[in-house]
Amino acid sequence: MLGKEILGVDVDAQGRCAHWHTPVDVVANKCATCGQFYACSICHAELADHPFGAMDKHTDAVLCGVCGETMNYRRYRLATACPACGHPFNPGCHAHEEIYFQLGLVD
Ligand SMILES: [Zn+2]
Ligand SMILES: [Zn+2]
Ligand SMILES: [Zn+2]
Repeated sequence: MLGKEILGVDVDAQGRCAHWHTPVDVVANKCATCGQFYACSICHAELADHPFGAMDKHTDAVLCGVCGETMNYRRYRLATACPACGHPFNPGCHAHEEIYFQLGLVD
């Protein structure tokens, strides 16, 4: 997956990391500051030298670690599973979406 490498602590081949590693923890998020996909914000905090940069809602900043599909906030928000490969996503991830997206901005 060229350009879609998932960075993080103890990341497996499908994007699970040391912090989130149940079968459904396969989503990675792109940091607006460094442009890299990270398995989670805790990984980013441990490895990067800057705070996680929240993305706008229109950029494809969510990556399915199973198949490499990318999606923007709107598409991801409606998905309980990957729209491309059907792998289920962790519904708990939505509790953290204000870290990853600029939700306060008007469209
Ligand atoms: Zn970053
Ligand atoms: Zn992590
Ligand atoms: Zn997928």
